[in-house]
Amino acid sequence: MPESTVRIGLVLPDVMGTYGDNGNALILRQRLRMRDIDAEIVQITLNDPVPESLDVYTLGGAEDFAQRLATRHLTKYPGLQRASERGAPVLAICAAIQVLGHWYETSAGERVDGISLFDVTTSPQATRSIGEVVTRPTLDGLTQKLSGFENHRGGTTLGSDAKALATVTAGVGNGVGDNSEGVVQGSVIGTYMHGPVLARNPELADYLLERALGTSLPPLELAEVSQLRKERLRRT
Ligand code: GLN
Repeated sequence: MPESTVRIGLVLPDVMGTYGDNGNALILRQRLRMRDIDAEIVQITLNDPVPESLDVYTLGGAEDFAQRLATRHLTKYPGLQRASERGAPVLAICAAIQVLGHWYETSAGERVDGISLFDVTTSPQATRSIGEVVTRPTLDGLTQKLSGFENHRGGTTLGSDAKALATVTAGVGNGVGDNSEGVVQGSVIGTYMHGPVLARNPELADYLLERALGTSLPPLELAEVSQLRKERLRRT
């Protein structure tokens, strides 16, 4: 167990964080505190350089314009790139997958260079994908179905260095016709799932925390969370 406070980076909540994605950082903090581990959230806004020393990072989804501001900032201050090089876990939601790729095309057809943490590229799908998603994880260490809410126009193609997080059983996911959902590359995980995804999928939350701490955590079963999972999975 860490002797000092675990520091959770909430990256650019002023421009990224649709559908409650900022809640992912709260859930990480709460799941640590409920196990008597000190944890704090460090907010990194457009006014701050991105620190490379934090234990775990989360980034939320965004609309096209806000997404572009975030891309510029993460390019100018490469703290996230440095942190991922040393294996710090990073969770990237929706637009953040696109920003972390080599490039993405906006709905207006403009191509924007990303920060290449993921070997992926993103182009608009014919139609926007909106609705509930359920997947079966393909990442080693995850055994439970994942559920979330998706709302994106971009469709993401994985290159050979990137693996899918999961296989879609309901909904669209990456949207390129291969039933893949999300991205895993090294310690960086991306998903199109809002929810926030960690509220609905505690196994994924603990996966990130265990990698941040470098140790396994005692189980933490919460009746409300189990009920939420049951209810969401029943609806799809
Ligand atoms: N603007 C991006 C898209 O439509 C991402 C949307 C999101 O993050 N919800 O694909």
